[in-house]
Amino acid sequence: MGAVRRADVKICAVPECLFCSIAAGEVPATLVSDRVRTIAFRDINPQAPVHVLVIPRSHHANLAELAGAGDGLLAELIDHAHEVAVAEGVAGDGYRVVFNTGNNGGQTVGHVHAHVLGGRRMTWPPG
Ligand code: AMP
Ligand code: ZN
Repeated sequence: MGAVRRADVKICAVPECLFCSIAAGEVPATLVSDRVRTIAFRDINPQAPVHVLVIPRSHHANLAELAGAGDGLLAELIDHAHEVAVAEGVAGDGYRVVFNTGNNGGQTVGHVHAHVLGGRRMTWPPG
């Protein structure tokens, strides 16, 4: 039997979930970096010079569900987001991490994801 590639390993994948499919390698994405439990890829519609999404490979609908998992995965995700900011050269000048949550929060994909935005001055309040 051949070796199992990381992309072949599906963790709690939810059918019809776009980001589960990206994590499984079934839908192409521009990979930035990947870890055992999280993956970072470029947003298809960037809102800043640097716009990377960091997701857990396992399916959690939103930030509260990820936090509720209680196994350190949320901390890993944040650590990965910071690593991306450093690697993309925006950590020094500052960057923004956003978790849009629910309809009013602007969440359009129901698999929790951190937006890592940088490379320009962010505005406040957000739109
Ligand atoms: P949100 O609106 O906070 O749920 O963020 C979803 C993000 O996913 C948006 O910024 C989209 O541009 C991005 N997105 C949607 N489809 C893809 C895709 N196939 N590859 C990369 N990013 C995507
Ligand atoms: Zn999913």
